[in-house]
Amino acid sequence: SALLEVKNLQVSVGDREILHGLTLSVNPGEVHAIMGPNGSGKSTLSHVIAGKPGYDVTGGQILFKGEDLLEMAPDVRAAKGVFLAFQYPVEIPGVATMTFLRTALNAQRKARGEAEFSTPDFLKRVREVAASLNIPQEMLKRGVNVGFSGGEKKRNEVLQMALFQPSLCILDEMDSGLDIDALRVASEGVNALRTPDRAMVVITHYQRLLDYIVPDHVHVMSKGKVVKSGGKELALELEANGYAQYQEAAA
Ligand code: ADP
Ligand code: MG
Ligand code: MG
Repeated sequence: SALLEVKNLQVSVGDREILHGLTLSVNPGEVHAIMGPNGSGKSTLSHVIAGKPGYDVTGGQILFKGEDLLEMAPDVRAAKGVFLAFQYPVEIPGVATMTFLRTALNAQRKARGEAEFSTPDFLKRVREVAASLNIPQEMLKRGVNVGFSGGEKKRNEVLQMALFQPSLCILDEMDSGLDIDALRVASEGVNALRTPDRAMVVITHYQRLLDYIVPDHVHVMSKGKVVKSGGKELALELEANGYAQYQEAAA
């Protein structure tokens, strides 16, 4: 059965409706790309799945592993295996990245009823994963995302994903602000996390990212809905013909 099922989701901020009945079904092992123009509601969808406050769900349902996700607090969603890599990762001055990773990881393990990592085990894991992502040890001593370049922030998000081992990874415009080398490293990190029981939702405005993270399914969002779904060839078709046809269809 589906890992994530979004059914006819309607979401408002204040008195403005942003998602107007969005439906999406993601099975374990699949990579789904969500493409769409700026303002189509891609980040809103990712925020609502992760449980970011400030959104009113006025209709529809989200099931994760068959359970009502909207009933769960954000930390419970994370413990159950939902991970969102934000389009704009937050900076946390005064909290070293290493300390943040350890605290967050142990909190999740505790919520899952798993034992905390010992200090040597934790350090070993972080160092291995960081090395695979070209993240220097020095970066892990700095405040979370403080003074990180765009590429470093995204690699830090992939590092978190690799440590937390979520069952659903949502990547919101991971490619924004990345040069081609940084994009390649981050994408390789994501691809290394593809497994038969983990799913990924890759949100992007551009087709380029999907040359690196090749999706099984592509969905086009326009004006708060999925207006077309297809295979990976749909991304190429969009690159060639643009979003305008779908915006007219959605209006
Ligand atoms: P995308 O990620 O596809 O660019 P967003 O989800 O960020 O789109 O935004 C979708 C629409 O919702 C946009 O018109 C945006 O202005 C609006 N929107 C998003 N967040 C808020 C908010 N907190 N308050 C008011 N409007 C918002
Ligand atoms: Mg945007
Ligand atoms: Mg966005």
